Amino acid sequence: MNDDQKQYEDLIETEESTLALEDIESIIRDQNVRKSFEKKYGEKLYSEILLALTHERYEPAKAKELWSKIISHLDNLTKRLGRNPGIAVATLDYLSNFHNSLSSAILIQEDKSDFISETTTRDGLTQLYLRSVFDFALEKELQKSFRGDEKLSLLMIDIDDFKLVNDNYGHIVGDEVLSTIGALINENIRSMDIAARYGGEELSIIVPQSLPKETLLFAQRIREKISKIEFSGFSVTVSIGVCHSSSDIKNTDEFISRADKALYEAKRTGKNRVVEFEKLA
Ligand code: GH3
Ligand code: MG
Ligand code: MG
Repeated sequence: MNDDQKQYEDLIETEESTLALEDIESIIRDQNVRKSFEKKYGEKLYSEILLALTHERYEPAKAKELWSKIISHLDNLTKRLGRNPGIAVATLDYLSNFHNSLSSAILIQEDKSDFISETTTRDGLTQLYLRSVFDFALEKELQKSFRGDEKLSLLMIDIDDFKLVNDNYGHIVGDEVLSTIGALINENIRSMDIAARYGGEELSIIVPQSLPKETLLFAQRIREKISKIEFSGFSVTVSIGVCHSSSDIKNTDEFISRADKALYEAKRTGKNRVVEFEKLA
């Protein structure tokens, strides 16, 4: 093998997968899509899929075997949760809990639950976790809080009058606002907190192992810091609804709906405010 060839081989080893998460999801959904990808990639398809999801390269035969196990794990999770957690979550949950083969290098701190991989699970604009990760993490954290006597809080954050920002300055500036707020949140959370883009301009933070009083201070701090960001010629504020776990919360839907009620109250009473569900009449 000459030097050029060697370099090329090395390149293949360190290459990023060319498959996007959306490709993988449509491969699962649609047989025809799967067939056309199989034609294009040949026996390497499943190595590529796993590379995209885990950043680890598996031999084609091993990859194919793992892939079929991951797909049945996704089916099981979907049945158990009553909704589809997405292939990224299913893969990481399978590999970290059952297969024990995921290198720790791509996993973030253990206390943030080891099913989360940095790369396949974040929203591109805000760099916050995807909704699917949020759903899965909240389920896990709530179960944990049932088992132990651990406190768990949930913050729902919504940008105030965000439509006006888009209307007055355009969508590109609106996107910049979202990405700046995402970065600020990521800089201000602890390693065990899980901040996600819940949808559109609604963000959410799961706050485990924190007393209600501390969580409230944290929410106020986030709110205040966001209001102080200087965009070109304007600033924005957010409203935050906070809810703490308690024995009468039975599932994640109830938890989210309480935080939502608090958020709605923060909006109703003037915005740029933090409201706790527990303080509602
Ligand atoms: P409120 O204070 O009651 O929350 O008012 P609002 O204007 O923020 O609420 P509304 O729900 O009417 O509008 C939300 C806007 O957020 C509308 C939608 O276009 C915008 N939005 C959602 N996602 C994105 C995004 O990714 N980028 C941009 N630029 N805008 C977005
Ligand atoms: Mg909204
Ligand atoms: Mg809004």
